[in-house]
Amino acid sequence: MTPWMTAASARLPLRHDLPPPPPLDPERDALFLDLDGTLVAIAEHPDCIRPDAMLAPLLRQARARLGGRLAIVSGRSLSDLDRHLGDAAPLAGGIHGAEMRGARTADLDPDAARALAQARLVLAAEAGALLVEDKGSAIALHFRQRPDLGVLAGRLAARLADASGGSLAVQPGRMVFELKPARADKGAVVRAFLEEPLFAGSRPLFVGDDLTDEAGFRAAQAAGGWGVLVGDRAPTAARFALADVAAVHAWLAALVEGPP
Ligand SMILES: [Mg+2]
Repeated sequence: MTPWMTAASARLPLRHDLPPPPPLDPERDALFLDLDGTLVAIAEHPDCIRPDAMLAPLLRQARARLGGRLAIVSGRSLSDLDRHLGDAAPLAGGIHGAEMRGARTADLDPDAARALAQARLVLAAEAGALLVEDKGSAIALHFRQRPDLGVLAGRLAARLADASGGSLAVQPGRMVFELKPARADKGAVVRAFLEEPLFAGSRPLFVGDDLTDEAGFRAAQAAGGWGVLVGDRAPTAARFALADVAAVHAWLAALVEGPP
């Protein structure tokens, strides 16, 4: 068992047979990290996550070790990321790249903005007991607290995407369907950062747990890096896997504590 594997990863039968990732190369690697389910355990309500007290210092140290090449890539808005991470995420892509900090910002497609406004009106009338999270540049329909409403949430999201004429897409996730600008995804975030001088020539590694992270895995691999799946999900484009949030923290700690 390698040091960054947890007891859980050795015990559970897995749906994939991906090995744990090798140690990070601080001279060469650039890290793209999802937040929920990757760095922080998922909570019943998105406002209720509780980042470990050592997470922000760990991110700061890992970023310094990588020469600054570390970005958080999340479905959350940038302001929401900062609320949970303080100043530990100076480079970030929020709302699947609809908001960017530290790389070229893609303006919100005006057709998508209009379609989101229309979707708000429909949801005000029809969302019922679904938890609607309005992120400004995207809208999430959560059914974690009402799993029986999952089919309804999926149909409603699909109908609103259809009505947008292609400007909005449905991003399925864990107990959530999200309406987001069709042009925004986590792969676009990776590509945007790789165009920045700080990231030039680096090997991009994308770490995430959910379906939305697959675009990040593919973009990292297309640029000579690889994806790291957190948890047990298949199929995936990732080449490596870590068992859980604790295993991600241990992998980052190994980078920070590694030889100079
Ligand atoms: Mg996640």
